[in-house]
Amino acid sequence: MGCNHDCSSCSSSCGSEHDLHESLNQYSSVEHVIGVVSGKGGVGKSMVTTQLAVAMARMGKRVAILDADITGPSIPKAFGIHEKCKGNELGILPAVTETGIEIISINLLLPNETDPVVWRAPMITGTVKQFWTDVVWNQLDYMFVDMPPGTGDVPLTVFQSIPLDGIIVVASPQELVGMIVEKAVKMADMMNVPVLGVIENMSYFTCPDCGSRHSVFGDSRIDEIAEAHDTVVLAKLPIDPDLAAAIDAGKAEAVETNHLSEAAEELDRMLGKEG
Ligand code: ADP
Repeated sequence: MGCNHDCSSCSSSCGSEHDLHESLNQYSSVEHVIGVVSGKGGVGKSMVTTQLAVAMARMGKRVAILDADITGPSIPKAFGIHEKCKGNELGILPAVTETGIEIISINLLLPNETDPVVWRAPMITGTVKQFWTDVVWNQLDYMFVDMPPGTGDVPLTVFQSIPLDGIIVVASPQELVGMIVEKAVKMADMMNVPVLGVIENMSYFTCPDCGSRHSVFGDSRIDEIAEAHDTVVLAKLPIDPDLAAAIDAGKAEAVETNHLSEAAEELDRMLGKEG
């Protein structure tokens, strides 16, 4: 296809030098940005974002979550935050959780959190960009961006507008999902953004009575996929009904056993050393 020199409407990695990154709010400071992506919805991407942020905060890092899942926002609810964000002359002030995690989400701006977002794509992508340009982020070590599932307009906007250090791909074990996962990995490759690692969610269930492990959703292909794409498996998470209940109750920070604490340490080893 012919080039119309409008890089914002194109996903081709043609080597053009155009830099489409938006400027961060002048009063903000963000050291590292990690996108959390999935090939399809419902695989636990938001749960992984939440638990990685909690683990990083427990490590003493200053952490934020930018909820780019505009039509399916679930981050504020996981932390039990229902009040609206405020702003001042410097910009929009993010909500802050009990342990100090900063959050921006469309649900913190809508008059009612049950109002659906029925917007055309340019409005949605514009909102995501504003979360980067207009929010005053307070000297962050790590920002996690909870991306909408798939490889559509909004993920493309995040890849192009926000300077990601890398992405984490979340998958569940089903073969079909595995195939979709590869699309997400290949998208990151096309956008020249490193895949920091993959996380398999709902990998197994441990019987509370006999302690035996069951691969409820079939055998895992995550090691194979990670190897094929020259990346690492950061974690394999069990099905954990207590975790699901805690997140549903808005108590994401109260969960004692964080299955992602080692993954968070690994990410910090990968990125923290770069300063
Ligand atoms: P996504 O962001 O990919 O759409 P969510 O993180 O919202 O998915 O997870 C979908 C549902 O599955 C939520 O109700 C969540 O609490 C639940 N869930 C996710 N991971 C697990 C897990 N490991 N064990 C139990 N429930 C989980």
